[in-house]
Amino acid sequence: MPMLVAQSEPTLTDEDLRRFWSHVDRRGANECWPWLGACWKNGYGKFGTRTGKKKTWRVHKLVCIQTHGPLPKNYGALHTCDFRACCNPDHVYPGTQARNMRDMVERGRSPHTQQVGEQNGRAKLTWPRVRDIRARAGSVTQQDLAAQHGVSTQTISAIVCNAIWKEPAAEAVAR
Ligand SMILES: [Zn+2]
Repeated sequence: MPMLVAQSEPTLTDEDLRRFWSHVDRRGANECWPWLGACWKNGYGKFGTRTGKKKTWRVHKLVCIQTHGPLPKNYGALHTCDFRACCNPDHVYPGTQARNMRDMVERGRSPHTQQVGEQNGRAKLTWPRVRDIRARAGSVTQQDLAAQHGVSTQTISAIVCNAIWKEPAAEAVAR
């Protein structure tokens, strides 16, 4: 990878790092690791650094920088899975938008988000319950919501981040 001018990057303090990873459900090496914090409307996890330069970041970008180092100019953090809230370092890599498009074509529809929806989501959940989860996500932890609804934290994270059970309106905003 050509190391051109590195983009400005966050300096994560130990406290930031501790807080960051406390919001990640670290699962098996090959599984998606759902972000359990807030999400942007487009489905990416959201994390604010509190020390130094205060800024709100896309969480997968922070995972990418922690794993692969600073992003070169014109590079972004991309996923090998299609779950935008995924924080598994093995599912995040630095690349260009052109690479992203090619990878998406090559892998076709990723199994990850489909699994989350089909294995856990549809069977047990209904629209009123999904809306209840979204309404309470800011005040109740995703672990508690998962326990209350008898589904995995992956499912809750995917709902909160609009990866499954997409509201028609939310989908329009995400585009
Ligand atoms: Zn993943």
